[in-house]
Amino acid sequence: MNYDVAVVGAGVFGAWTAYQLRLQGAIVVLLDAYGPGNSRASSGGESRVIRLGYGPDEIYSRSTQKSLPMWQRLFAQREQWVNLFQKTGVLWLARERDRYCEATLQTLQHLGANYERMDHDELVRRFPQLDFGRIAWGILEPDAGVLMARRAVQAVVAQARAEGLDYLEEAIAPPSTEAKKLASIKTTAGREIRAERFVFACGPWLPKLFPELLGELIHVTKQEVFFIGVPPGDENFKLGRLPVWIDFTDLVYGIPNLDSRGFKLAIDAHGPEFDPDSGERMVSASGLKAMREYLTQRMPLLANAPVTETRVCQYENTSNGDFLIDTHPMFENVWLVGGGSGHGFKHGPAVGQYVAEMMFGRGTPEPRFSLASKGKVRGRTVY
Ligand SMILES: Cc1cc2nc3c(=O)[nH]c(=O)nc-3n(C[C@H](O)[C@H](O)[C@H](O)COP(=O)(O)OP(=O)(O)OC[C@H]3O[C@@H](n4cnc5c(N)ncnc54)[C@H](O)[C@@H]3O)c2cc1C
Repeated sequence: MNYDVAVVGAGVFGAWTAYQLRLQGAIVVLLDAYGPGNSRASSGGESRVIRLGYGPDEIYSRSTQKSLPMWQRLFAQREQWVNLFQKTGVLWLARERDRYCEATLQTLQHLGANYERMDHDELVRRFPQLDFGRIAWGILEPDAGVLMARRAVQAVVAQARAEGLDYLEEAIAPPSTEAKKLASIKTTAGREIRAERFVFACGPWLPKLFPELLGELIHVTKQEVFFIGVPPGDENFKLGRLPVWIDFTDLVYGIPNLDSRGFKLAIDAHGPEFDPDSGERMVSASGLKAMREYLTQRMPLLANAPVTETRVCQYENTSNGDFLIDTHPMFENVWLVGGGSGHGFKHGPAVGQYVAEMMFGRGTPEPRFSLASKGKVRGRTVY
């Protein structure tokens, strides 16, 4: 079988790319070494925030505006998917002079988005679960919320398969050829997959597949996530009572108790280097301590609540946090799609659509996604 497109990697980027290509009529095979939304993938785990606020980076706010209805349309297709988007709202916690939140406010105004600006007193009145301390004001995005990550990716793949996509659970060996076009790829078990075009959407594995090209351009970092058990019968931390909140200055965010999993708290600052295949997924003592200190300060009601679950995931960071979506400089029929940089999940639909349009010559290239724009020196500006 000679496919139109072979997509390697069934994380959120690969799954949506394969789905969009299939919807546009291409004959597509999607492959994954460990399975869609698996525990090692950056798209694994329970939940991901979907928000419009991106400080000055309106490009990503627009991308969320495009993606959220696409997620919702997908989830509307089967009854068991309707809760995969949880409209919790997202609350930005701002300091007195807060350039990021001020820029977010401007973008939300500019895009005509639904939002509320609140002063300190109103925050205290509306959300007594939080200790606002030096938080001077906030922005609530009431239509934003949470995507149930692993199950959402599995839903994309299931829907794509229902539309005729082929899916194989096999690992692909790093491609090599002297030719300008790649004719086929091989699974590590030796099976050959032939296609006209290839997409490598391998998230944190991209530097392993293309070490010379991407080894220094994508940095994989260990990220720790904590679930905190809420007191029995306590409604304060549920959907409807507590929104997702983001403290951008301290790079910490919290997600309400969804699916009775506990309140989720994560520190967004980059952790140490991490290997997505062999890294032990155990949180560190220092991470646990930092989480507990922050929790005690921001959510004193949970200061002594137990950690009920932990997770270790990884970010696949480009130098500044912009995505990498471009062709391989050696193979004209190979697309590299990744660099989600800790904020990519929500954009799966827009990324898939962008790749499909670019591949069939209908899109306009976005310079910020180009390989040429990626540097070796880390300087995160996109969050
Ligand atoms: C803790 C944490 C919190 C985050 N929070 C948010 C958030 O709130 N909001 C948000 O929008 N984003 C968030 N992100 C970022 C987002 O989850 C990622 O940017 C996104 O999931 C990346 O998806 P991906 O498809 O590029 O990579 P992945 O999900 O890693 O998918 C890559 C896939 O490729 C497969 N693969 C790799 N190599 C091979 C091979 N050789 N052969 C076959 N298959 C292969 C893997 O098995 C994997 O399934 C967060 C990330 C983490 C880790």
